[in-house]
Amino acid sequence: MFIFLLLLIGVLAWMAVTFRSRRAVKDCRWRENRTLDSAEGRYFICMNCGAETRRRDGTAPEHCLMPGGRG
Ligand SMILES: [Zn+2]
Repeated sequence: MFIFLLLLIGVLAWMAVTFRSRRAVKDCRWRENRTLDSAEGRYFICMNCGAETRRRDGTAPEHCLMPGGRG
């Protein structure tokens, strides 16, 4: 019985870790870099997946722009 409890705790911990890492990829963390601003807009780079973009309105994108859709 004790073995089953350990197994259950192990599975739960594994699920928590995978869920957390999946969310970390999904939530892009956009960082602006004003030194790279251009006429196209404010420069943003995603610290999670490395996607880059320029935004005219100066606000960070809400979705990951990485091709292939990792998030
Ligand atoms: Zn991203």
